[in-house]
Amino acid sequence: MKLVLATSNKGKVREIKALYEDYEVIPYGEIIQEFEIVEDGDTFKENALIKARAVFKALDDEDVMVIADDSGISVDILDGAPGIYSARYAGVDANDKDNLYKLMKDIKEKGAESSPAHYTAAIAIVTKDSEYCVHGWMYGTALTNAVGDGGFGYDPMFIPLGYDKTLGELDDEVKKSLSHRAKALSLAEKILASIK
Ligand code: IMP
Repeated sequence: MKLVLATSNKGKVREIKALYEDYEVIPYGEIIQEFEIVEDGDTFKENALIKARAVFKALDDEDVMVIADDSGISVDILDGAPGIYSARYAGVDANDKDNLYKLMKDIKEKGAESSPAHYTAAIAIVTKDSEYCVHGWMYGTALTNAVGDGGFGYDPMFIPLGYDKTLGELDDEVKKSLSHRAKALSLAEKILASIK
């Protein structure tokens, strides 16, 4: 059965393909025209399910499993912001760099140089018979400066717990072993194995 990803985010596609080497992983944009999905849920879980359901319906093919990731970073000193709004923190048309700089600026404006923070990933799976959702988390420190150009999104300002370098500097293999997405995908893989 084909495993279709309900995302066009290049960083996510790269990471999911690297973690699911044994599957034929296809971003939905390679099958149908990409379309806007209104993510109006109140939680990562709701938004992941909204995306997976929308793509499953649009594909109109009972023989696919659709997988969607909704993820983001929550910063303690900002009371958990940006959370589910991570992709549009600096505005609806903001890109990864705009969001990164706004988050560093907002932490600085609190008078801090860093703050405890964590990433969350909700992975939803939708098939013709059922729906599932699992989560993964990665804890660490959010900085007010960006270092390195690896990863994507907020990675250059995030040092995972137990490390002294940002995800922008650390090797992809390190992120693969400890990320929120890797943890959620590993749980999701158990579900996929039982239904494929
Ligand atoms: P989504 O596509 O609506 O789930 O938005 C996720 C947003 O959270 C992305 O645009 C990134 O800004 C951020 N994000 C999620 N996961 C990561 C990650 O692993 N590294 C860096 N930023 C991430």
